Amino acid sequence: MARLAQAALIEAAAAAVAAHAEELSELDRAIGDGDHGLNMQRGLDAVRAKQSTLVALPLPQLLRQAGMELVLKVGGASGPLYGTLLMALGQALGPALDAPPDRAHLTAALRQAVDAVKARGRSDAGQKTLLDVLDPVHAALARGATAAEIRAVALEAAEATKPLRAQRGRASFLGERSIGHVDPGARSCALLVAAVADVLEAPESAP
Ligand code: ADP
Ligand code: MG
Repeated sequence: MARLAQAALIEAAAAAVAAHAEELSELDRAIGDGDHGLNMQRGLDAVRAKQSTLVALPLPQLLRQAGMELVLKVGGASGPLYGTLLMALGQALGPALDAPPDRAHLTAALRQAVDAVKARGRSDAGQKTLLDVLDPVHAALARGATAAEIRAVALEAAEATKPLRAQRGRASFLGERSIGHVDPGARSCALLVAAVADVLEAPESAP
């Protein structure tokens, strides 16, 4: 992938989290401890600070380094989970990748990465977490959806966590009282997927 596109991906992800940090913390105040926006912003800011080093790397290595940065800087439950997602995605894509991954390669790699998050969190879709976004996004990618469709799938999937009862993470301590709120991790995941989809859709991101 061209350096320009890699830089645009990092910028878009960091900007999406920065623009919604307060909203993410607000969601987390309802069913958690109110730090999700700040956690994610700290992580994405750290990734952005390393941008010049990261964009010089091949995409798989960029993903692994960015994942390690998230593990180190995000803290909270979401740091290791997002970190695992990116590190496993980089691992599954690499090491030899001298052209942008095609859809089949990306779909298979994302499957492995989402499964790694499930193993790390001892969790699955349906439990009101970011996995409720990741699984439908993978399915959309697998069935050939456009970037715009994947964006919509992700945003709707996050909204669809509202009626669920949380079964993992801090929100699970609330039991029934977690019902009626969008999961903060699902929302941040949807925002990140939307940001990536926007970049991949933009004609100037073509390698
Ligand atoms: P913390 O809960 O430690 O304060 P954050 O607020 O940053 O961490 O992240 C909370 C989000 O992490 C939740 O909204 C949920 O989406 C996700 N999460 C928490 N635990 C798990 C888990 N075991 N599996 C998958 N996702 C989880
Ligand atoms: Mg929290």
